[in-house]
Amino acid sequence: MLSSAMRRSGKVSGLENSLLSGGCACGAVRYELAGVPGFSFLCQCRRCQRATGSGHAPAFKVEQEDLSLTGTLTSYEVTADSGHSVSHEFCPVCGSPVRSVTTQFPETCSLYAASLDDPSVFKPTCVIFQSSAQPWDHVDPQLIK
Ligand SMILES: [Zn+2]
Ligand SMILES: [Zn+2]
Repeated sequence: MLSSAMRRSGKVSGLENSLLSGGCACGAVRYELAGVPGFSFLCQCRRCQRATGSGHAPAFKVEQEDLSLTGTLTSYEVTADSGHSVSHEFCPVCGSPVRSVTTQFPETCSLYAASLDDPSVFKPTCVIFQSSAQPWDHVDPQLIK
């Protein structure tokens, strides 16, 4: 259980700000986040590799109702191994990945950590889909479980 003191200070996850904001590179898409973000992770699946052009996507889960987003995202939908559809959403102007949503958990979404105005507040707690990791993509070994 979290103590009420911890909750008051907002220090309940790796992301400790009570109001986080972010957006794409060109500013056409902006968001503000109320509430405390959840699960923070690095995803090494092939979909995230292609979406980010990198070895993994740093991302965190939020409740859709805590997210207020302005601007329009373009989405590209794929079917995951689970059979659920996953939409990778990006800015149609500058191409920055901003959000990913899945029909498996429709009440939540994932935001890409580098879309935050202050990405340094992101603190991943684990690595997922490590089975498709690239040999050149080195992550903090303490995150590998
Ligand atoms: Zn943009
Ligand atoms: Zn992924």
